[in-house]
Amino acid sequence: MISRRAFVRGTLSAGLLSLGGCMVRPRAARVVVIGGGFGGASAARALKRLDPSLEVTLIEPKETYVACPFSNLVLSGDRELSAQTFSYQALTREGILLLPKRALGIDPVSRIVDLDGATQVGYDRLILAPGISLNYEALPGYSAAVSEQLPHAWQAGAQTEILRSQLEAMRNGGLVALSIPENPYRCPPGPYERASLIARYLKKHKPRSKILLLDAKDRFSKQNLFKAAWQSQFPGMIEWQGRADGAIVVEVEAEPRTLKTDFDTVRPDVANVIPPQRAGDIALTSGLADSTGWCPVDALSFESRLANNIHVIGDAAILNAMPKSAFSANAQAKLCAVQVVRLLKDLAPLDATLANTCYSLINPDYGISVAGVYQAEGSRWVSQPGAGGVSPNNVSYDFRRKEALYAKDWFNNITRQTFL
Ligand code: FAD
Repeated sequence: MISRRAFVRGTLSAGLLSLGGCMVRPRAARVVVIGGGFGGASAARALKRLDPSLEVTLIEPKETYVACPFSNLVLSGDRELSAQTFSYQALTREGILLLPKRALGIDPVSRIVDLDGATQVGYDRLILAPGISLNYEALPGYSAAVSEQLPHAWQAGAQTEILRSQLEAMRNGGLVALSIPENPYRCPPGPYERASLIARYLKKHKPRSKILLLDAKDRFSKQNLFKAAWQSQFPGMIEWQGRADGAIVVEVEAEPRTLKTDFDTVRPDVANVIPPQRAGDIALTSGLADSTGWCPVDALSFESRLANNIHVIGDAAILNAMPKSAFSANAQAKLCAVQVVRLLKDLAPLDATLANTCYSLINPDYGISVAGVYQAEGSRWVSQPGAGGVSPNNVSYDFRRKEALYAKDWFNNITRQTFL
């Protein structure tokens, strides 16, 4: 026996609309999102809010997300990692289907994502936001195993804790060395904020210690502001060497801790090795990255130039002048959701302008920032001259304190928008 209620439910889910049985309600369009970080989680949420009739599936293997922004405060002892950790419960409450699995492959012709060889998920449009993978091959001696001793802490979580405990275990008078890659990489000002916050910790607890930055570049984001802050807040503690000084790290060793440049061999007490990066593995193995290791996309729609119906956002995508940041990933996600909803209705992508602000903390009360405004021109995101800029030099401490407050508000806002 089948109850009337069960019959009605069954009929509705089968999508039968007309009494004559000749009209079939089209099934809901299926959008699959791979990666539940600032890009993917924001995109899934925006899609479902824009069009509740969409079937939105988020594929993310980790139970919780550990945010990188503000994770440098964990290194200075000003913040717990738990304050960086977010669940996906709010997203599932909004009707997003969460698949706690790793995507292993994408078939763009059949429009199928392979999860574990046994489970497959079909899509009409796919948004790929897997973030970065660490390019171990580009740095001889470095590997996942070696990163347990020479942590990168460039994907927040266990790595952040390893670096934190190495700093705690270090002797007063020790040397902390950071190896910093060439552009592009996740969060251009991140290494210099990290040096500042490690210096804050050392100044308080191990004041005879020093920090050496070995940088593959000759210039870096907010350089003048960082250098002025280092001089005023941590005089004599931080030394920066760039490409022209021969400071590119070309090889590392775990035992004893060693960073080699073409001219020098450094044996620090703690080594934070931030290796060269490329798009998340799934983008590489699915043929969505080009020879640069990143994913080329059409600027306005974020649609891959290598496969139809797949959109790539966040750190994994080549978005030209836009930096690889959580701010950018979240902004791209919202625009991408709008474009996907339009494309599903056969409407052309909308024209748009995006913005980014990257705050950096010298200490919890001292903030600096860089902002940019970007316009899609043809296939590129181009920086708008005259818009954006960096914090001014030579301002009062109160000004820096306010910027630190804006940074905290920004973090609270973006994590609320994305995860809470
Ligand atoms: P992610 O946030 O890395 O998310 C990718 C997700 O995809 C992960 O959850 C991962 O588990 C998942 N994934 C990967 N592969 C698969 C797969 N095969 N299947 C399913 N899921 C998969 N940005 C700012 O704007 N402001 C800051 O102040 C700031 N500070 C930073 C400080 C540090 C120390 C660092 C390292 C970064 C900082 N960033 C900051 C940068 C920011 O963290 C990244 O730009 C941002 O996280 C990018 O978002 P995303 O969604 O592209 O990637």
